[in-house]
Amino acid sequence: MKYGVLEEVKVVNALINWYGKAGDLSSSCKLFEDLSVKNVVSWNTMIVVYLQNGLAEEGLGCFNVSRAVGNKADHAAFLAVLRVCEAIGAVKVAQGIHGMILCCGFNANMCITTALLDLYAKLGRLEDSSKVFLEIISPDSMAWTAMLAAYATHGYGRDAIRHFELMVDHYGISPDHVTFTHLLSACSHSGLVDEGKHYFETMLERYRVEPRLDHYSCMVDLMGRSGFLQEAYGLIKEMPMEPSSGVWGALLGACRVYGDTKLGKEAAERLFELEPCDGRNYIMLANIYSASGQWKDASRVRNLMKLKGLVRASGCSYIEHGNKIHKFVVGDWSHPESEKIQKKLKEIRKKMKKELGYKSRTEFVLHDVDEDVKEEMINQHSEKIAMAFGLLVISPMEPIIIRKNLRICGDCHETAKAISLMEERRLIIRDSKRFHHFSEGSCSCRDYW
Ligand SMILES: [Zn+2]
Ligand SMILES: [Zn+2]
Repeated sequence: MKYGVLEEVKVVNALINWYGKAGDLSSSCKLFEDLSVKNVVSWNTMIVVYLQNGLAEEGLGCFNVSRAVGNKADHAAFLAVLRVCEAIGAVKVAQGIHGMILCCGFNANMCITTALLDLYAKLGRLEDSSKVFLEIISPDSMAWTAMLAAYATHGYGRDAIRHFELMVDHYGISPDHVTFTHLLSACSHSGLVDEGKHYFETMLERYRVEPRLDHYSCMVDLMGRSGFLQEAYGLIKEMPMEPSSGVWGALLGACRVYGDTKLGKEAAERLFELEPCDGRNYIMLANIYSASGQWKDASRVRNLMKLKGLVRASGCSYIEHGNKIHKFVVGDWSHPESEKIQKKLKEIRKKMKKELGYKSRTEFVLHDVDEDVKEEMINQHSEKIAMAFGLLVISPMEPIIIRKNLRICGDCHETAKAISLMEERRLIIRDSKRFHHFSEGSCSCRDYW
């Protein structure tokens, strides 16, 4: 202000960016509004600032206004708006931007197409990702790796391996450490133990890529997932570097699945040292105790968590319909169609009991309460409400795509499998860990996540 440079667009753009990063959105907005001559960078910066401050929709609005006042969307604008699309989580918006990318001739830009294929994968549209990938004329290592990552998070392990082999053998593209992280996690997500071990063992000698923390963490996950808990623990002890929270977290996750309270406790203790403020670790250990009926230990861990002032995030599920993202929480009756949704939910439950002889898997409720209360609680999980809503409104030709902020519970997972069988529908649920593709009564994760 003193030097009178607040009309220098470059200076102001940098300031807008700086205030935005510092979380002071109103100062960013004020500078932006007061700037008499805004350039494309000013607009792009504002899009990112909105995104960073959790206002993705305003970011999208900013992108649209920028075009309306005559700016041509450039490379940076598209990269920013693709990130905005991910945060909004709506396939329709992404498709609109995809159309614009084609119109503006940016489909030849590798960075943008790679970001686009990554976006489709994150929105549950793996087929669209692979379409975008196939249209890239000569994909570089980033594009190949992004597609590999898409297969990995969706649990398409065999496709990931085929893709990797094609990439290195046929096209002669060198994989890097990121490629291997996704390849190993693909093996892990699909339970391909031998393949995972093979790549882990050959990555250094054959591809000159030194195993890093991430790779060890994938291997611990892979072995733990397949029930080789001791082997996984052995690998942690052998690691040439300090095991990170990711490594211990992978072991803790495996202990939860296989009900190993002893090893679980050890992993959790290491995690408490490394991440004393991450509530998820406490919940995981408490759940391990509850699942094996050790209620006292479970409540001790929960109390410890409370003492530290850590709160459990509440679960919510999102589903897109009619140009809108619908959000549901547990026991949600706020939706205008709630009567119909609850009726549908009851109907599904009845059908599951009758046709499949299904009993609610109340061990996933993990509270020391009576069985019928447990059943009541579990039947109202947000993803179940979202599934019932999806069945009501989404065309049978389309998959039902749901996003959930936390890990999906075992009972909801079973319900999704049952729906895919009884109603002959495809369901895709993205939880905090990965994607689950349900069809014909089974899931792409093979019941491990
Ligand atoms: Zn559930
Ligand atoms: Zn699954």
